[in-house]
Amino acid sequence: MSTTQSSSESVILQQYYRDLISGSHILHYHNVVDAFGHLSVRHPFKPEIFIMSRNAAPGVISSPNDLVEYNIEDARAVDPNAAAGFAERCIHSECYKRYPDVHSVIHSHSEAVVPYTISGVSLRACYHMAGFLGTSVPVWDFADAQQPDDISDLLVRNTHLGSSLAATFGTSDSKDGSPQHVVALMRGHGLTVLAAGIQDCVMRAIYTQKNAAIQTTALSMRAADSSATAPIKYLSQKEVADTTSWIKTSAHRPWGLWLREVEACGLYANSA
Ligand SMILES: [Zn+2]
Repeated sequence: MSTTQSSSESVILQQYYRDLISGSHILHYHNVVDAFGHLSVRHPFKPEIFIMSRNAAPGVISSPNDLVEYNIEDARAVDPNAAAGFAERCIHSECYKRYPDVHSVIHSHSEAVVPYTISGVSLRACYHMAGFLGTSVPVWDFADAQQPDDISDLLVRNTHLGSSLAATFGTSDSKDGSPQHVVALMRGHGLTVLAAGIQDCVMRAIYTQKNAAIQTTALSMRAADSSATAPIKYLSQKEVADTTSWIKTSAHRPWGLWLREVEACGLYANSA
């Protein structure tokens, strides 16, 4: 590897660090994560490694020193002396392992979304900003994957639970390495979101939460009005496809706004 390449890779890696930290702040600013939840990214030059923060609230991480490299194979830190990591990092490792095209993962306990993990009401695309949700979002149940040695705290603490969750996304028929779904719900717990990059992943997580709030409002309005007879009009299969294509070209706009929001907020610092 030439010095020039090495320098160029260093610049790219530094931007990944910066986006990972800012993305974590954005998710906190928008209440997708609180003290819990996490964002990760696949290493841009070592596809067998992913990067996520040490065990800390996403709103308070502030420098590359807060970030840790993990092996996708077993979710162990590359550096055995690294700071303690999140208990649920197997969510991330197993999703990267199963889907080569996935380069960013978010896990959240969004309170707007959790009701759809326990109620039997299917979360589905309600408006054009969330077509990526499709006509139904799969729900993974910890109890279905639990083995006798697993603690019943619903946390994804090992590779077999992570692998089971990752399988819930399904495999796309159209392209090798792509998941069929990009969001999966976790019963009594939260959700996991997949994307090809940090910006898209953050956007999907935020608009999944907004979509859940819209759907809950629509369902509540229906329940309160006995004269309403027509079914709720969710997005059709064709609308899902077309809005998903459109939003792929628009991720930069909300990212730019959300970045300014967290940069203007004194709570957050990013030295990467
Ligand atoms: Zn969790």
